[in-house]
Amino acid sequence: MNKEGINPYQIALKQLEEVAEKIDLDSGMHEILKHPKRELTVSIPVKMDDGKIKVFTGYRVQHNVTRGPAKGGIRYHPQVTLDEVKALAMWMTWKCAVVGIPYGGAKGGVVCDPKKMSSGELERLTRRYTSEIIIIIGPECDIPAPDVYTNPQIMAWIMDTYSTNRGHSVPGVVTGKPLAIGGSEGREEATARGCVYTIENAAKHLEIDMREATVVVQGYGNAGSVAAKLLHQEGCKIIAVSDSQGGAYNPKGIDSLKILDYKRKTGSVKAYKEAEFISNKELLELECDILVPAALESQITKENADRIKAKIIAEAANGPITPEADKVLSEKEIFIIPDILANAGGVTVSYFEWVQGLQAYFWSEREVNLKLRDIMSKAFNNVLRLSLEKKVDMRTAALMLAVSRVAEATRIRGLYP
Ligand code: NAD
Repeated sequence: MNKEGINPYQIALKQLEEVAEKIDLDSGMHEILKHPKRELTVSIPVKMDDGKIKVFTGYRVQHNVTRGPAKGGIRYHPQVTLDEVKALAMWMTWKCAVVGIPYGGAKGGVVCDPKKMSSGELERLTRRYTSEIIIIIGPECDIPAPDVYTNPQIMAWIMDTYSTNRGHSVPGVVTGKPLAIGGSEGREEATARGCVYTIENAAKHLEIDMREATVVVQGYGNAGSVAAKLLHQEGCKIIAVSDSQGGAYNPKGIDSLKILDYKRKTGSVKAYKEAEFISNKELLELECDILVPAALESQITKENADRIKAKIIAEAANGPITPEADKVLSEKEIFIIPDILANAGGVTVSYFEWVQGLQAYFWSEREVNLKLRDIMSKAFNNVLRLSLEKKVDMRTAALMLAVSRVAEATRIRGLYP
């Protein structure tokens, strides 16, 4: 259970059940897709700075590898549970399938509080966790990446530990690495950039002029601040942004870069002088054309769903809308770009990074962004077409497309033995 008392794995299973019915999925196939292929739980003994030994618990779950190697981030958080990792691994399978990249789904996590650990402790934890899961990861079978509270430095330690064990450099074992050791141009902005490409397509479909659109962004971290910057460049008016401490609101518009600079200096956007303070709760309920939740899960719930006034919601974050809220928003005909589509730009450029690493041939940022635009626009239009044809919302259509692709690959490969 997470802190809202919701078990994410039960949500993932329920979603699969609903979609299975809609696409008339064979019951045996449904049974296969319900179960993760592999779950590994490891104990990670770490010598802490005070000389004492602490044992952490870590997980790596591979949900499905039918369409290619397993792919998914590693999360360091005190509330990580096996069920959360299982749910996130399943969502990764659907995310890779919906954008048509040749990967299956995985996720990893370590129960720890990285904010209370030194850099040395984090390095020792990462290296020992890597060596405990080394039996199932590798460039051909399972490729980790950053997730909540893990970053390029942590990816570099994973790459180094894996490479040292193999006796040569293996850049393809992780993505989200620093550029100096085989990272990709454009990876840092990829999630937000991919999200903005889907918003452009949605605006075109709904006949909303981006140059006159108003935007609200919840969460001003990597995904949120870059999305605000790119939407600002498109001519949209950013009227409110927030972080964990509160928000800033100015109906005349906020300069996305100036406020980022302010956040870097002061730690928060909340007291930005060219705007008035607004709480996160009020911010979500503002009248706007485009709302981008880019913070945490379960932000729009059955409590506030009927007060949401946005025309488009683009889920840069994973799971910001609860299933009950989804139904309310759907009745209000709010156009939702679901997380497995809206934030798939990150894993797409991770795929580019892996391809570049395997070929030892690196592309320019322009080339990365052009290829990303192609993949995101194609995926958006495939989902939109299915949603109109089957008269279902975009989330259901995205899941229908993804589950059908994984099921088709499984059927064609057949069951061993
Ligand atoms: P981040 O840590 O860089 O930023 C998160 C931001 O949210 C911070 O500004 C934080 O202050 C803010 N925040 C935290 N709690 C909040 C609250 N209650 N209300 C408002 N703001 C709050 O993280 P990120 O990488 O930008 O990820 C954000 C979301 O996007 C997560 O759900 C993540 O899973 C998802 N996502 C990120 C990527 C990626 O490549 N970065 C890819 C796919 C999905």
